[in-house]
Amino acid sequence: MAVKTRFAPSPTGFLHVGGARTALFSWLYAQHCKGEFVLRIEDTDRERSTQEAIDAIIESMKWIDLKWDEGPYYQTKRFDRYREVIDQLLAEGKAYKCYCSKERLEQMREEQMKNGVKPRYDGHCRDDHSEHAPDEPYVIRFRNPDDGVVAFDDMVKGHIEVKNSELDDLIIQRSDGTPTYNFCVVVDDWDMGITHVIRGDDHVNNTPRQINLYKALGAPVPVFCHLAMILGDDGAKLSKRHGAVSVMQYREDGYLPEALVNYLVRLGWSHGDQEIFTREEMINLFTLDAITKSASGFNTKKLEWLNAHYMKTLPASDVAKELVWHLDRLGIKDLSNGPAPEDVVRNYCERTKTLKEMAQKAACYYQDITEYDPAGVKKWMKDGSVDVLKASLEALKALPSWDAKSIDEALENVAKTMEIGMGKVGQPLRIAMTGAAMSPGIGDTMMLVGQERTFKRIEQAIAHFSA
Ligand code: GLU
Repeated sequence: MAVKTRFAPSPTGFLHVGGARTALFSWLYAQHCKGEFVLRIEDTDRERSTQEAIDAIIESMKWIDLKWDEGPYYQTKRFDRYREVIDQLLAEGKAYKCYCSKERLEQMREEQMKNGVKPRYDGHCRDDHSEHAPDEPYVIRFRNPDDGVVAFDDMVKGHIEVKNSELDDLIIQRSDGTPTYNFCVVVDDWDMGITHVIRGDDHVNNTPRQINLYKALGAPVPVFCHLAMILGDDGAKLSKRHGAVSVMQYREDGYLPEALVNYLVRLGWSHGDQEIFTREEMINLFTLDAITKSASGFNTKKLEWLNAHYMKTLPASDVAKELVWHLDRLGIKDLSNGPAPEDVVRNYCERTKTLKEMAQKAACYYQDITEYDPAGVKKWMKDGSVDVLKASLEALKALPSWDAKSIDEALENVAKTMEIGMGKVGQPLRIAMTGAAMSPGIGDTMMLVGQERTFKRIEQAIAHFSA
């Protein structure tokens, strides 16, 4: 049977690292098996679900390039189907209406606790055929089997067995008529033909109840694979307090999607001691039996290292797409006056750690210089620097061709003629070009600025520092 996996986020917040890892593993497994991957938005909790969160999840999935073959499905659009299945279960006596009041349930709980037994519904309404007023509130419960065990072999956790006597008669429809999470998940996974349920291990306790539902419906039970949680740098469960946790925050912080995905795949999965995987390699190598059982720790340093690797090794045009996004965020939308973003990437991929930093450094190539970095000015703009700028301008204007090598040679000649070190020529020119004294080689920097603008910038600096 063809493999079909799904990612089923509840849209109550942004897509965080844990969710993204679940999505990635589900996607990878489907890819590996040449199967299909479904995106399903579990939005039945209307109070906590928001459109903003749905948009953020979809945007994040697109950014890390996890394409779904089906969906997004929305649970809120499937209420008729849930209703139909509930009616069927009622008709078959596999579910029943429960009229127990809050007070009764509360009292039952207290007594069970007092007697040292695990609180669970006592089945009072299972065979209650008494008359109820039409407006009397009720919930619908699933009639869980009384005897035997529910057992399954989780791909990560191994064999799990729970006695039915420990399971409640699960509420599948609330008193307001809405179906509950454990019920909808089962109907959806059944209807959508999901063969492998890969999700966080916070759901492992729900699984036996869900398996009983599958069986009652006569539906095939999927394979389960519960992923161990992710811990922060400090060993506590990864949460907002560890800094960036949402996928889009990583984008804002200047990471490449390739770096984040490579980072995520190693959070709980390994292939020997290999750290760097292309997409194709991940797809070819990813199997469920190589998922680790223990919780994995988040390591920001490793993510930074991967980001530096991908900034240097991906085609400049791929990195440039991300750079353009960051430039846009800095308000730089018109790139026609500046260098091709690929050229910025080539010159800065080893000088910056993130795309955010690269965009900040590259802003000067697209915007006019309005101020000069005081520290750089103090260090390099000395008596005589304006003369250096003037001599450089003259030498550059006389150049027959505009390329980095000719520029560097011309400026070395200026240094020689003036009998000063190259630093005293290059640094004032960097300040003139970029506003600060840090940039790639001066020839490359001037190439990025462009010939006409180089002349203008030197003239602007001469005027500014002569004043
Ligand atoms: N909607 C659930 C969540 O976001 C996931 C349910 C599932 O994967 O079965 O935690």
